[in-house]
This record gives sequence, C-alpha cells and structure tokens, in this order.
Amino acid sequence: MTIDERLEQVWDVVVSRNPGEPEFHQAVQEVLGSIAPVLEKHPELAAHKSIERICEPERQIIFRVPWMDDRGEIQINRGFRVEFNSALGPYKGGLRFHPSVNLGIVKFLGFEQTFKNALTQMPIGGGKGGSDFDPKGRSDGEIMRFCQSFMTELYRHLGEYTDVPAGDIGVGGREIGYLFGQYKRITNRYESGVITGKGITWGGALVRPEATGYGATFFAEEMLRVRGTSLDGKTCVVSGSGNVAIYAIEKVHQLGGKVVACSDSVGYIVDEGGIDLDTLKEIKLDARGRVSEYVERRQAAKFVVGGSIWDVPCQVAMPSATQNELTGADAKSLINNGVIAVVEGANMPATPEAVSAFLDAGVAFAPGKAANAGGVATSALEMQQNASRDSWTFEHTEQRLAQIMEGIHDACFETAEEYGAPGNYVVGANIAGFLRVSQAMLALGLI
Ligand code: GLU
Repeated sequence: MTIDERLEQVWDVVVSRNPGEPEFHQAVQEVLGSIAPVLEKHPELAAHKSIERICEPERQIIFRVPWMDDRGEIQINRGFRVEFNSALGPYKGGLRFHPSVNLGIVKFLGFEQTFKNALTQMPIGGGKGGSDFDPKGRSDGEIMRFCQSFMTELYRHLGEYTDVPAGDIGVGGREIGYLFGQYKRITNRYESGVITGKGITWGGALVRPEATGYGATFFAEEMLRVRGTSLDGKTCVVSGSGNVAIYAIEKVHQLGGKVVACSDSVGYIVDEGGIDLDTLKEIKLDARGRVSEYVERRQAAKFVVGGSIWDVPCQVAMPSATQNELTGADAKSLINNGVIAVVEGANMPATPEAVSAFLDAGVAFAPGKAANAGGVATSALEMQQNASRDSWTFEHTEQRLAQIMEGIHDACFETAEEYGAPGNYVVGANIAGFLRVSQAMLALGLI
C-alpha cells in the first residue's frame, strides 16, 4: 500500500512519535494508503487536520497490576487502556489479556476499533485495553484476583457514558464477570452499561458470544452474493479456535459450507468431513483445552504441528486467530489452491503483503474492521438493552446483527466504487469509517 505524497508527512510524524510500535504503524499505513481521494474531495477535512488528529489517541493510560498467585508469590503485570476517539460516542472496545500485549499492540487495536465502530453506524467511539498477563495455566482464583486488581485501577476511567470495555483474546464471560463484580463493588453502582459481554442472567445480551463469528460469516455471504455465489457447498478454513472461530464455523455450517480446518497456537487440525462442532465446543469452551485433543476423539482427523493452516486447500478462508498470522507466502498458497474469498475474523490477521496479493489476484478480501464488526455492534445492542432495561430474543438480535453486517458490506462496497476502487473492501472500509469519524469531529469543533 503506497502512501500519497500529501500524506507522507503525517506518516513520518506517526512513525517518529510512536517508536517501536510496528503493528500501530502498519494499521495507520493501511488507512493512509486509502484516504488521499477523500481529502481531495473534502478539502475541509484536510484543512482541519482530521487524519493527524485521528492518529493521535485522546488519552493513553498505563498502570501497574499487582496480584498474588496461588503459591503466595506476588506478580506484577502492566495494564493499558487507550481511549482513542470519542467523537461518535463513549470509547468502546475490548480488553486483551495475552503476553504479547504492549502499548503498540493496544494502539493498533484502538485505532482499528475507531474505524470499525464508525462502520457499525452505532453511537460508539473507539478504545482498547488489556494486559501482558498470561491466563494460560492460571487457576480460577488467580484469574479472579488478577481481574479484581486490574479493575481496581481501571474503574476510575470507565462509565457508561465514558468508556465501555468488553472482551477480546483471553477475556471472555468469566473475566467480564470478575471485572464487572469489582466495578460494582468499588462504585456501589449496578451500572450494567459500563461493560459488555456480560452473562445472560446479569445484564448480558443474547447473541453477543456468537456475534463476531456470525457477523464475519454474514459478511462472507454478502461478498459471495455480489459475485453471484454463496457459502453453500464451499470448503472453508477458519484459523483459531476461540470465540470468533467457533461461531464462524457454526454459521458457515448453518449456511451449507464445510469448515475442514481450525487451529490454536500449537498447531492445526484437519477434518475433511467437516469439523464436528460439538466436539470442538466441548474441548475449547467447556474444558478450556487444546485443539490437539480433537484428534483423540475423531479418528479421521489429523493434527499438524509446524506447518501453516493456509496450506489446506479451501475456497473461503477466515483468519480468526490473531494479527499477522497470514503472510504473503500463505496468501500465495491460498491463491494457488483457488481461494475466492478471504474474510478477516481477527483484527489485522493478514500482513500487508498478503492483502496486496489477494487484491492483485482478484480475490474478494474483507478487512477485519468491516468483517469482524459484528461483535462490537452487538455490544452496542447490549448497551441499548441495558439502557432501556430490556432484553431481546435471540432471533430478533440475530436479525439486527445480520442487517448491520449487510449495511457495513454495502457501505464498503459502494464507497469503494464511488472512490474509483470497485470491489476493494479495504479502500471502502477505510474511507467510509474515516468519513464518519472525521465529519463528527469537524462538527464538534477542535477536539
Ligand atoms: N474485541 C472485540 C473487537 O475487536 C469486541 C469489542 C467490544 O465488543 O467492545 O471488536
């Protein structure tokens, strides 16, 4: 992705002001590579330095998280919350607990989130947070004590009109419960709208656990529809085996496709007959186990360590594990094996080389900020239900999710066409997201 010379100065400032943050640079570069035609058409946005302001987070919070492990030893982690942009609503975005988390990772995620949330058309700004805490192998008690310590600092920055976290990698329903419990205890307020992804009996919304995976699959179906086809009968590969991957597999199967492979950080499984979702859910959701356990239960399946899941031939690929998991070489294998659509379930899973390869080969490519927006959109629906003290049925909520994904798809598709890049969802998503955020910022004065 080349950056227009008018934006080169913006890029230079971002790189020099944020040293050692390659993922943040990468996310900014992708957006800068798309928006030059907008600034030409809307000189007022350039005059008001909209993109310069969007690249600078409104607030960045870094804090110590001390906690005691089961052996009585004191542990110290680092906590983050980057409140990126609140032009469209309270900061909204998940918390990630993973040893790879650092300020650059949180900034890339917060930057992406700002555009993603704008694309949903919901009233939510962008933010992201997390910690370098590694939940793997930790007991329930350790997870709880860590979450309580994390919230003991974070609570002062939150509020249903200020900043509303949710889950991400390493943060699911259990962690959201401990975090909300501590927030409630400190503030003496049952403020349901302060966090999303809550359990269904204490303020959560139906479809929220499924929403990211379902939403990405709805997006895939829309992209295929434009090309005169559908998921029905298609062979798919979904990387990862967390919440996003599991519910993407579920929806692909419901729509008649067949997912033959998924993965975790150790390796990947291939089951040519189609992944058996009940088995996978038992292993991953009920027992918090590893995908390798799948082959102990399904004789026909194999477990591969050391290769790339993208060597498994498929027509639709849904990278749903983590950033930069799909490289230029992986893109070549997928293209050689006849992939027709690639849909990012995770945030920025395809490297810039991979994205260029897909676009050059005419593969339908959906960037995460558009395709995985169903999760945060359903979080906004959860906030809506909390605000009205209401709860909707599964069917109604899923229908809303499907409509939102269709809306995002169409906005990306039409914007790409309008700006002379037909079929390029990267350009469409970046421009549509940028326009919504920057026009709101313009309306609110110099913020
Ligand atoms: N972590 C999710 C994302 O990347 C969801 C955030 C939310 O629901 O606030 O969009």
